[in-house]
Amino acid sequence: MSEKWYKNGLVFSCTGCGGCCTGSPGYVWLTQKDILRLSTHLNMSESTFLQQYCVYVKGRYSLRDIPPDYSCIFLRDKVRCGVYDARPTQCRKFPWWKEVLSSEREWNQTSRYCEGINHPDGKKYSQEEIDQFHADEYSPD
Ligand code: SF4
Ligand code: SF4
Repeated sequence: MSEKWYKNGLVFSCTGCGGCCTGSPGYVWLTQKDILRLSTHLNMSESTFLQQYCVYVKGRYSLRDIPPDYSCIFLRDKVRCGVYDARPTQCRKFPWWKEVLSSEREWNQTSRYCEGINHPDGKKYSQEEIDQFHADEYSPD
């Protein structure tokens, strides 16, 4: 295991603030498993789900976001994920994304909109756990 800047672990606990679901244009990319899980959760066909809730960009599907604040189409009352139990893998893996973990600076910058990062009551994760979370093949569902 190579030594990382977060070798002493990192603190995080999701507060459900919704900060990662709004605020700037971006993509929530969907895997085939995500599409199946979400369409089943919403009790609709995959094609209806894709038509109503997704955009097709660069050869893959992403959830729609809604201007002017670019909230995810599933964000409710500005804080609550309306499909939490079936949310996409990309959402489940946040903040353990490669970009966020690329440096301490990036981690701390992300904490500006994610109050769960470095939260005083947060859970501490070891480097080993973090590396498992952010591995590409890790699918927390
Ligand atoms: S699916 Fe849920 S968790 Fe993911 S961005 Fe949308 S509102 Fe947020
Ligand atoms: S911004 Fe962070 S604390 Fe807020 S809902 Fe997203 S992951 Fe949870």
